[in-house]
Amino acid sequence: MTTACVGSGFCCKTAPCYLGMRYATKKYTINDHECEYLTKVGDIYRCGLYLKADDEMKVKISNALAFGGGCSSTLFNPERERLIRKMSRSGSSSPSPVSSSDTKYAAMCCI
Ligand code: SF4
Repeated sequence: MTTACVGSGFCCKTAPCYLGMRYATKKYTINDHECEYLTKVGDIYRCGLYLKADDEMKVKISNALAFGGGCSSTLFNPERERLIRKMSRSGSSSPSPVSSSDTKYAAMCCI
């Protein structure tokens, strides 16, 4: 079961997905494993590969990584809880200046 992604960046901080590895310009190690393409926009994280892609590639990336598929990493994710509390306080569906329709493209690897 998945719930909505809030763009905590948890997945991409844990390890790059296969596209992050495919286009890696650095060597990941056990101590340096956050995806180099993870990009903070306001309070949330988004996929830098997606942000820089043209429209055709955005569709491919989105489909390949199941953007919009929801979050399957809800446990032991304090940043996600912080963002949800912030949204709750503000009455917003989005914790950032990014429009709510864009948040479905937040960086996530919930395949
Ligand atoms: S979704 Fe984007 S930011 Fe996240 S690991 Fe994959 S390439 Fe990196």
